[in-house]
Amino acid sequence: MNFSKSIAAYDEAKPLMPGGVSSPVRSFPSVDLSPIYMDHGKGSNIYDLDGNEYIDYILSWGPLILGHADEKVVQLIKETVEKGTSFGSPHVLETKLAELVINRVPSIEKVRFVNSGTEATMSAIRLARGYTGRDKILKFEGSYHGSADSLLIKAGSGVATLGLPDSPGVPAQLAKDTLTVPYNDSERVVEIFKQYGHDIACVIVEPVAGNMGVVPPVDGFLQALRDITQAYGSLLIFDEVMTGFRVAYNCAQGYFGITPDLTTLGKVIGGGLPVGAYGGRLEIMNQIAPEGPVYQAGTLSGNPLAMAAGYMTLSQLTPEDYPEFRKKADRLAEGYIAAAKEYHIPLTVNQAGAMMGIFFTDQKVINYKRSKSSNLSHFKTYFGQMIEQGISLPPSQFEGVFLSTKHTMDDIEKTIQAAAHAFKVIADL
Ligand code: PMP
Repeated sequence: MNFSKSIAAYDEAKPLMPGGVSSPVRSFPSVDLSPIYMDHGKGSNIYDLDGNEYIDYILSWGPLILGHADEKVVQLIKETVEKGTSFGSPHVLETKLAELVINRVPSIEKVRFVNSGTEATMSAIRLARGYTGRDKILKFEGSYHGSADSLLIKAGSGVATLGLPDSPGVPAQLAKDTLTVPYNDSERVVEIFKQYGHDIACVIVEPVAGNMGVVPPVDGFLQALRDITQAYGSLLIFDEVMTGFRVAYNCAQGYFGITPDLTTLGKVIGGGLPVGAYGGRLEIMNQIAPEGPVYQAGTLSGNPLAMAAGYMTLSQLTPEDYPEFRKKADRLAEGYIAAAKEYHIPLTVNQAGAMMGIFFTDQKVINYKRSKSSNLSHFKTYFGQMIEQGISLPPSQFEGVFLSTKHTMDDIEKTIQAAAHAFKVIADL
């Protein structure tokens, strides 16, 4: 494959922006390749500046559950943009999207729209602190909840990829209020609550972790979080920015049957435009300004174009889509495991709805420590080999692979064949 136009574009960008990019992992920091500049996408395919075609499993890091440039989404964005780009007044599309979100997400009775997942989690944490009058929060090692100060402690995703889990610039005074324990370790959670329980405003958790690779909750973990937060009067926040409408039609909370106090959303609910949201029980959401004293606002929040993309994305998803995702993910997992076996490559595959994670280890991956035991050198070879064969994957071990309704079984079979070739190359090294 020829990447000359992407390389030239990156050379131009590098002196102008940190790492040449607007978000760190896009610079391909851990795979020894120059980043690829994408030009356009359609369905499950994406095309770079040099005209190379890929089956895309990044899907803009999760939002594009209907694939690239879905016709109805594009159409409604076009109709909306013809009327103007932003008004700074309420807009009927906000109400329509709010209705869909409230109908489908069990914990949400009222919702506030923001512009990103980071804003959603940052605001939900402020609301939990304001509502409880407590300062401490509990999060899990290797979970990523966006780049707000309180949440950049032992974080996953790009900070894990770059090995910077505790970022400089986060005030020590603030960091001391973020407690962390390993994912899936309810015993440690109980211990921490015994020590600090009455000072803990909230526990924030990805109900399926997606930023240390994909790591589902073990049986009883989410229930244990529900029980302990209730016992101590702390709030439970499910960060469903990644899992929302991706793990199941009613989000991970519907799938696991556990209802948190607050939920944060992003990605899918914006259909590829910048949207986040947080919502929950009325009595808590009524603390938000202008109804209550907890302040949060945004010039472009509820932007009509973003609401249009989100509304048309959620409108088209049906409960029947999720068994289909499952079928595709099951086949992908089965094909990967068979290929790894053939070439004696240690491999663990974790799945949840329309997301999947692979790890080059034969250990069960239930937390960040196990995820880090994946062979990163194998990952690098695998990633490079997949790109060469027209398969676009997140360029990091610590990210999930996403499916869309537009991925076909043919795409899945091609991907398995490409992975088998990549595993052969790893075995021959
Ligand atoms: N929470 C989770 C679970 C996420 O996966 C992400 C982004 N990957 C965020 C929050 C932050 O969202 P954003 O990048 O839109 O700020």
